[in-house]
Amino acid sequence: MLPEMPALMIAGPGELHDEDLAVLGRQPIAHYGDVWTELHGQVVADLGSFLGCADPPYLMPGSGTMALDAALMNLFEPGARVVVPQTGYFGVRLSEVARAQHLEVVEVPVEVGAAVDVARVAEVAAGTDGVLCVHVETATGVRHPVEELASVARDAGVPLVVDGIASVGGEALSLDGMGIAAVATATQKGLEAPPGLGIVALGPGGRERMEARRERPPTWYLDLARWDWYRREWGAWHPHPVTMPTNLILALASSLRRLLETGLDGVVARRADLAKRCREGLRGLGLEPVPEAGVEANLIVAAWAEDPEAIQKHLLSAGIMISGGLDPLKGRTIRVGLMGRTATEEMVDRLLSEIGAFLGR
Ligand SMILES: *Cc1c(COP(=O)(O)O)cnc(C)c1O
Repeated sequence: MLPEMPALMIAGPGELHDEDLAVLGRQPIAHYGDVWTELHGQVVADLGSFLGCADPPYLMPGSGTMALDAALMNLFEPGARVVVPQTGYFGVRLSEVARAQHLEVVEVPVEVGAAVDVARVAEVAAGTDGVLCVHVETATGVRHPVEELASVARDAGVPLVVDGIASVGGEALSLDGMGIAAVATATQKGLEAPPGLGIVALGPGGRERMEARRERPPTWYLDLARWDWYRREWGAWHPHPVTMPTNLILALASSLRRLLETGLDGVVARRADLAKRCREGLRGLGLEPVPEAGVEANLIVAAWAEDPEAIQKHLLSAGIMISGGLDPLKGRTIRVGLMGRTATEEMVDRLLSEIGAFLGR
């Protein structure tokens, strides 16, 4: 058994809401048959409405990085050149995923705390095969301008692929509405479901791009054409190629229902208010937010701190766990995740008062 655990206010995963948590304690159900296909179909449809895409998203066992791997592997072929703004730790990760697939990465530098300079991306996008960008960079808490990047990519005639792992469920995002070819995300952050599921969603141009490849991608599991085949040929029985973690998907069905009841606009507005409360509180205690004004993300608040480890240690003793910095901001920042059950004013106020008490402010 585990010792008593602190309340999670880390940069993901978030704590589950009680009604979603309850689902995890049930016996697994069969990942095929009438009951399952209807349930799975509903979750996929709900995801599509939440992400604003008519093309039904792929829900795959694995993490968010798996979904990134799948998105890149299906949209690009080895040797393709892609522009990747270096937004921070996860911008670097995105470049690494691309290079691992033998894509050639054209890096665009990004200042810490600032949004990607869209004009710089526009200068280099023409003649490449795509633009890849992190929507919310979890290391800095900055929201990057994916709608403008989609328009730059469109002008260059190339697809935009977005890492939406820390933005889906926290930011305005619509694939069809914004013209984003593909978004890769996961369930454990803004979607408030357990970790363990990756999502690949296709928007305008995404499927065409996938179908224009010369060869199938060199993977069995991540080949989306295979997932399509199962959807088409086994749709009435077993609409995916592998065994599904049914409990995780049931928990996701439950959290999605709640998010859709509020609606994306409502969810985003509530999260923006809470993030603002947290940021302003931290600023009041002398911890300046990392993001510049106007580009602050809603699910992650990052702030400069002189001794982040000491703050984290004190919070742990008070029963709250937050995150420290990620390279190259390690030892210089704290990060607070505002997702799941602990994303409440009450918890933010408790966090602020503990930090205030510790710093003597
Ligand atoms: C959390 C996160 C990841 C990593 O996701 P995994 O589910 O751990 O693979 C990637 N990118 C961003 C922006 C993230 O916030």
